[in-house]
Amino acid sequence: MAFCYIGLGANLNDPVSTVKIALHEMSLIPQSRFVAASKIYVSKPMGPADQPDYVNAVALIETQLNAHQLFEYTCRIEQDHGRTRNGEHWGPRTLDLDILLFDQDIIDDDKLTVPHYGIKDREFVIYPLLDISPNLVLPCGTSIESLTENVPLNGMTAL
Ligand code: AMP
Repeated sequence: MAFCYIGLGANLNDPVSTVKIALHEMSLIPQSRFVAASKIYVSKPMGPADQPDYVNAVALIETQLNAHQLFEYTCRIEQDHGRTRNGEHWGPRTLDLDILLFDQDIIDDDKLTVPHYGIKDREFVIYPLLDISPNLVLPCGTSIESLTENVPLNGMTAL
């Protein structure tokens, strides 16, 4: 069994409902157990500012799947929410699911980079992770708690 943290983000079409439904859908992933969800947050968009605020959360799942099998399920959930890729980096999206951490594994291939490359500098990842696991440490030895020194809330609020 592995413990996997998954980041959720949405900023179109009633994003609070989208995140809540996606959390429920993640609880239905086979061979897996939904362990915990963070609070739900509203954060400022990265990249283009002319888009709605984001709604974010992090979920912790215990799974017998490997990271790539789990990723197939998270992609399916994204697609079920009508996510389309228009090529715009950091553009608005119905639902974005990121595999943040998969145990202490380090993965770097054409599909997955784990730990997720944004984990150390995104407030909407760091603070929700702390809600679930205040003592969490990255494979490199950095504690998530220590990342808050350089990453302020940047206007993010909990719902
Ligand atoms: P994004 O636009 O941020 O959702 O990027 C999606 C792309 O990132 C997909 O093609 C994935 O294969 C790739 N990717 C790499 N690492 C990860 C990860 N840890 N979690 C989710 N997607 C990832």
